[in-house]
Amino acid sequence: MSVQKVLDNIKENSIQFVDFRFVDLAGRAHHITLPSTEVDADTFVNGVAFDGSSIPGFRGIEESDMVMMPDTEAVFVDPFTDHPTLNIMCNIHTPDGERYERDPRSIAQKAEEYLQTTGIGTTAFFAPESEFFIFDEVRYESSMNSSSFYVDSEEAGWNTNRKEEGGNLGFKVPVKGGYVPVAPVDQQQDIRSEMVRLMQEVGLRVERHHHEVATAGQAEINFRFDTLTKTADNLMLYKYIVHNTARQYGKVATFMPKPLFGDNGSGMHVHMSIFDGDAPMFFEKGAYGNLSPLAMNYIGGVLYHAPALIALTNPSTNSFKRLVPGYEAPVNLVFSKGNRSAAVRIPIASVTPKGCRIEFRTPDSTANPYLCFAAMLLAGLDGIKRKLDPVALGYGPFDKNIYELPEEEKKEIRSVPGTLDEALDALEADSEFLTETGVFTEEFIANYVAVKRNEAKAVAIRIHPHEYSLYFGC
Ligand code: GLN
Ligand code: MG
Ligand code: MG
Ligand code: MG
Repeated sequence: MSVQKVLDNIKENSIQFVDFRFVDLAGRAHHITLPSTEVDADTFVNGVAFDGSSIPGFRGIEESDMVMMPDTEAVFVDPFTDHPTLNIMCNIHTPDGERYERDPRSIAQKAEEYLQTTGIGTTAFFAPESEFFIFDEVRYESSMNSSSFYVDSEEAGWNTNRKEEGGNLGFKVPVKGGYVPVAPVDQQQDIRSEMVRLMQEVGLRVERHHHEVATAGQAEINFRFDTLTKTADNLMLYKYIVHNTARQYGKVATFMPKPLFGDNGSGMHVHMSIFDGDAPMFFEKGAYGNLSPLAMNYIGGVLYHAPALIALTNPSTNSFKRLVPGYEAPVNLVFSKGNRSAAVRIPIASVTPKGCRIEFRTPDSTANPYLCFAAMLLAGLDGIKRKLDPVALGYGPFDKNIYELPEEEKKEIRSVPGTLDEALDALEADSEFLTETGVFTEEFIANYVAVKRNEAKAVAIRIHPHEYSLYFGC
């Protein structure tokens, strides 16, 4: 959309406020609002200033001035404000007019620009499946009374968001018993439908919604694939609508990867493919999973770099509480056609050239989508450049139940890192695939690792409730 079109839109729709947004390192959106009377063509040239020193992970106090540069392609009317408000997503620039090297959205755009210099293809497509919970209330004590390390399903069954004042009017959904039952078991159809309606209103193309596997309250809504930065913008919009719709219903939504001990967590599987113009580069009929050698090398790159990549796709201490066996979250760095414990899966839809894609199942929604998608693309492209063959490297395919493999074979299988610190170690040891492209700078990686190490430390030094059951009686 041209600047003039945005200005016309403001007039025609009696927009009273224009909301300028940017995304921080952690993937959270921030905004500054201008009365529309203060917005003219110059605003789009000069941008909107803000204090970068007050945003965690951004600039120091001594160089705090930053500028939001509006992207007129990323505009929507806010469905939640009392006053008609137009939202515009922005890139972050330094006062010299350069793209700020820590701006996640600029990094996403640079990754797309880099793809075009490789000759591999023109466009990478992404589709995230971002799961979340809708709770009646936040119960921080939820997993804290467990007296045993191993989950007792009855105990975990009670560990839900269901209030029972006035009697149990629905049904108690058992642990892992939430996959697509109709009402009255599914109590959240209307709230999900309202989320979808609002998503459609702001321009997302939603394909479906459903209750997810975990006990009462886990949900998933799928929207259509798009290009890298656009999909990251869409995910920001998706989360904004999920959070605020839940709030309108007097509930709270969380994308935290593992809010309930002993039940499925929330992932963000990401589907990826590369096209050269109209030509799908991942498809080769009759090959394993109908995947071309180029797609296999992309998988090779993703799995080879996975330990480092996971520092960006699963960047919270809580992420690693999801990546454990038994909950459909991947733990094995292997690829497979059907196996849901594999980090890379080839969906059944890959039978058609256009639908042909790979699914990386590790990520979760604590990832900053701009950094997450950019890093995944660079890992895959590095695999193509270096012709990393996932079969020769021992990453599969594993189409049998991995738990039933002979011990010898099982030993060969590599696992995802066990903690955020392990993933950060891997990123420190393997970040060239990100930096040699110029998409991420070394300074960015060093700062990112420092911010995340602090986070891990802040969690590690706190006393965990489960430590009381283990050690209080000593
Ligand atoms: N919730 C599972 C995860 O953590 C995925 C479940 C599914 O979509 N089949 O990845
Ligand atoms: Mg799904
Ligand atoms: Mg799912
Ligand atoms: Mg999936």
